[in-house]
Amino acid sequence: MKNEYDAIIIGAGPAGLMAAGTCAAQGKSVLMIEKNAKTGRKLRITGKGRCNVTNDCSPQEVIASVPKNGKFLFSALNQFDSSETMHFFENLGVKLKVERGRRVFPVSDSANEVADALEKFAQQNGVEIHRDTVQSLRVENGAIVGVKTQSGVVKAKSVLIACGGASYPGTGSNGDGAKLAKAVGHTIEPLKPSLIPLVEKGDTCAKLQGLSLKNSGVKVIDQEKKKVIYEDFGELLFTHFGLSGPTILSASAHMRQMASGRYAVEIDLKPALDDKKLDERILRDFEETKNKQFMNSLEKLLPQKLIPVIVEKSGIDPEKRCHSVTREERLALGHLLKHFTVQVQSFRPLNEAIVTSGGVSVKEISPKTMESKLIAGLFFAGEVMDVDAYTGGFNLQIAFATGHLAGSYL
Ligand SMILES: Cc1cc2nc3c(=O)[nH]c(=O)nc-3n(C[C@H](O)[C@H](O)[C@H](O)COP(=O)(O)OP(=O)(O)OC[C@H]3O[C@@H](n4cnc5c(N)ncnc54)[C@H](O)[C@@H]3O)c2cc1C
Repeated sequence: MKNEYDAIIIGAGPAGLMAAGTCAAQGKSVLMIEKNAKTGRKLRITGKGRCNVTNDCSPQEVIASVPKNGKFLFSALNQFDSSETMHFFENLGVKLKVERGRRVFPVSDSANEVADALEKFAQQNGVEIHRDTVQSLRVENGAIVGVKTQSGVVKAKSVLIACGGASYPGTGSNGDGAKLAKAVGHTIEPLKPSLIPLVEKGDTCAKLQGLSLKNSGVKVIDQEKKKVIYEDFGELLFTHFGLSGPTILSASAHMRQMASGRYAVEIDLKPALDDKKLDERILRDFEETKNKQFMNSLEKLLPQKLIPVIVEKSGIDPEKRCHSVTREERLALGHLLKHFTVQVQSFRPLNEAIVTSGGVSVKEISPKTMESKLIAGLFFAGEVMDVDAYTGGFNLQIAFATGHLAGSYL
């Protein structure tokens, strides 16, 4: 390791590795400092180990998938859009495939292949990767001059903070980036979880713990504004604390004003049947079980675990014979199945979030270069900034695009 470099990159995640390789490819001396022994620890667990690398869509569509500060990404995404990301990885020998929702994955279904290729890209361009933890930035006369690590001071003409957010801290992204930026005067928008399971206000989900529904309709209702703010269809999971699973994680990113009682999740347990067809179906089932008690009549309609909860919520006497269930009761049962409602108390804690919302205020970062407007030579890329996106490969696309842009100007 030398005493001085053209550029220091803090954090060997997707944003940092992309920036480091891009910068070194221009002939600059680049030191990458990563606290973990291995690069890209979070990247290696993305997409359940398969890595949803990007989304095969236009910059405008990526921006539309970023609930806050999307326009800040305009330059970065126009210079390095999803097709650039795909070319980039295919040039590195990573074959890609496009799946449902235009989500792009490696053909190998291996996030490690993606991370290894990125590391190789950085190293082949001459980036030195050093294992250490950056503790503070060195700034003189409003310009960056280096960093202080656990093992000493290293000088550099420019420094990139690519330390990620504060979720899944076991991967190394523990909020250091925001702290480093704050210590030199940057504003930090409060760090909050996004793409996160939901805690229920009540105990219905606990009773259904472990039940996974593959095909259900999900609506998020903002109860203050009295409107549906998100709709989806797919898989969800009941847990001891509330709701999880892909549709719920996606839904959580739309709940930007989380407060107990503000949001409710309405689950359509029978999305394939409209109200009329569902009523006909219930009628048929009741006909077959007409002399049975109501509580013993739902086996064909619902998973076993749901039955006692539905019986209780329906308000129908569980011991009532099916033939004497009234039309009103039957219609109310149908309504319950189409609008099974879970009141949301809160998000699960930040450390469990797929992404961190909040971070270094983008008002203090140039969107054209990713350079700090406060400190010359200081740059940012990836999740450390106050940008976060919905699921679908958008968060990695943001890391690659901002990393590439910063790497061109470092
Ligand atoms: C379980 C999970 C699955 C995900 N799946 C997907 C997916 O399929 N598709 C998608 O688009 N997004 C996915 N994401 C989100 C995506 O992984 C992140 O948005 C992305 O990794 C952010 O990249 P980054 O380079 O900004 O930061 P990170 O990947 O968080 O990397 C930051 C690096 O900085 C290092 N570091 C931090 N502080 C210091 C310090 N002081 N000194 C030295 N090094 C430091 C860390 O060790 C880490 O290696 C997933 C996230 C999780 C948690």
